[in-house]
Amino acid sequence: MASDKDNPSLRGTQLDKYCYHCGTPWPREVIQCPACKGKDYEIGQAKPRIEVFNDAKLYDPPWDLLPWPNQGAVSITGPPGSGKSTLCTMIEPRHWLTSEQDPKPVGAMFRRMERPVPLVRRVKTAAQVKEALSLIPEGPVVVDSLSAFGLMDALVVAHLMLDWAKENDDRVLSVLQVNSRGDSAGYMAIPHLFDACINVGPDPFGVRAIHVEKSRWSATGDRYWVFGEGGKIGLPSFDAAYSVEGNSGSYHLHPYPMKGARWANLLAKLDTMGQLQPKVASAAHVANYMATGFFEPHDMIERRRFAEDHGLTWISPNDYMEGEE
Ligand SMILES: [Zn+2]
Repeated sequence: MASDKDNPSLRGTQLDKYCYHCGTPWPREVIQCPACKGKDYEIGQAKPRIEVFNDAKLYDPPWDLLPWPNQGAVSITGPPGSGKSTLCTMIEPRHWLTSEQDPKPVGAMFRRMERPVPLVRRVKTAAQVKEALSLIPEGPVVVDSLSAFGLMDALVVAHLMLDWAKENDDRVLSVLQVNSRGDSAGYMAIPHLFDACINVGPDPFGVRAIHVEKSRWSATGDRYWVFGEGGKIGLPSFDAAYSVEGNSGSYHLHPYPMKGARWANLLAKLDTMGQLQPKVASAAHVANYMATGFFEPHDMIERRRFAEDHGLTWISPNDYMEGEE
């Protein structure tokens, strides 16, 4: 007879076990907190007064947007050819479960990225994934991709990955291919089972970016990346002047003077004065009632951080006033 654990619809209702003192989720079958070494746990609640360090891993950019703790299960979605699988090599998985490719091209992809090659295992059914995971003692584990299974099996595989991460106190990453049309609502719900969801796709100018659309550990946000020399992943260089456009949690860099910008007035002013430099960013609109002649959006601090994270120098109306004196 099947236990509750085998029923995907019931599994999400079971409350996790947390360290009472630091709030770290406990894998099943441990007697000591993996983060603070405390011995007290409670089911479904904690009073995390102790701060623990180093329990989140930061991978190379563009992954640095997502501090990734042990037991963390992440999904990465994107259209065909968006670079999802290549991005997955950067977390240096020890095990790669593939429903899409033979081991040979997977190995070639890792060698091209100059990352350690994982053990590659072909899987075609949820039962095969379950068997493979039962033999894996240490992660990270990637499954590429959930969408190649039928919907029912994809749901089961998603839960198997989540359970493996908890039980082994390690990281898992699940790839999902999304197509612009024909995806059933069932598939679209799968990414949200995970602790964090990453979208890979172009920004409004067609530049490659990852978008953290949900994260239990950090804010949402965006980071640009490129396929550089030899097909390696790198960061683009931003050589123009940009306004930071878009909504909070989903910004993009809008090159000046391309049309459609809302926040490019300071750049335009500097340009007419012959003072606009490359490699800068700004977000300001003309307002003659302001002492500086401009106002900045309320979330200017976040827009500034986004620009600076991409190596740009921020210019604000105040700098410009000082420059004039
Ligand atoms: Zn603890």
